[in-house]
Amino acid sequence: MKVLITGGAGFIGSHLAERHLNLGDEVCIVDDLSTGSVANIQHLKIHPEFTYHIDTVTNTRLMTELVDLCDVVYHLAAAVGVRLIVDSPVRTIETNIRGTEIVLSLAAKKLKRVLITSTSEVYGKGDRVPFREDDDLLMGPPNKGRWSYACSKAIDEFLAIAYWKEKRVPTVIARLFNTVGPRQIGRYGMVVPNLVAQALTGNDITVFGDGAQSRCFTHVNDTVDALVGIMAHPDANGEVYNVGSDHEITIIDLATRIKRMTGSDSKIVFVSYGKAYEEGFEDVRRRVPDISKLAGLIGYRPRVSLEETLESIIADQRACLREHGVAIAVR
Ligand code: UDP
Repeated sequence: MKVLITGGAGFIGSHLAERHLNLGDEVCIVDDLSTGSVANIQHLKIHPEFTYHIDTVTNTRLMTELVDLCDVVYHLAAAVGVRLIVDSPVRTIETNIRGTEIVLSLAAKKLKRVLITSTSEVYGKGDRVPFREDDDLLMGPPNKGRWSYACSKAIDEFLAIAYWKEKRVPTVIARLFNTVGPRQIGRYGMVVPNLVAQALTGNDITVFGDGAQSRCFTHVNDTVDALVGIMAHPDANGEVYNVGSDHEITIIDLATRIKRMTGSDSKIVFVSYGKAYEEGFEDVRRRVPDISKLAGLIGYRPRVSLEETLESIIADQRACLREHGVAIAVR
């Protein structure tokens, strides 16, 4: 099978590319390196079945050729990370909507199968625990930057479902819940790589708000299992699936655990949302997926525990810091 992955040099995309190569597939990726990096795919470049294009998904000429040549498309290219989104809302909205429009319209010409990666952010301020795929989406107002991401991804979802309903393009949507793992970097605001880096370098461990907000962190291998399973399933067309772990942890407990696991002397400090992001920033208090729909489709169960997940991230960051000659402040 020939697999095209947009955003393939990103954190999740590069793991997905690796998995498909291991399955014996041909993999082509396109990535503009806006948040991805060549380092993520360095080890794949020597693989004979791997090709890559450092370019944007809005290059229609290139994308026409790549979509024509492939059998299936995973569309992961997007502006991601709360920090980036709050700082660059124009880029977020334009990248996310235009990129998806192009991918879907090209896929429609040859009826190629497309998996669109969406996000648990689309549930917005909804307070249901756990979130189910058919829940209402409750967005905040447009003057709060965060919600531009949620809205742009919700439009992507509407568009993908519309292509299936109206034009019979086989599309499917995966709503990802806080995927973490090796290769993820904290620069765009994600909490786990941020806190691990802070702990390893002896900087303050920053907990935003009161730390009682919670998330479910999913190891990237479990996310990739889900994506590959959904893509392969004929009954998934036009459907939305939550993808994540249902093991919930508060951010203060996460910080404490990272401090313990790294043996760090860093202080855990509380930072107001106003200071961390922008005045009036609205956080999501609890975010837990109902994964029964995905379990029903492919028998999905996340396999990697939070402890193993954090261990793999700490080991990866230690190696990365060493490689770059950065002093590690812990044993
Ligand atoms: N967070 C934190 N310290 C950080 C980065 C994030 O306490 O250095 C908090 C953030 O406010 C949120 C949670 O951790 O409540 C998860 O943040 P992330 O950006 O990783 O994901 P999302 O908010 O999209 O779930």
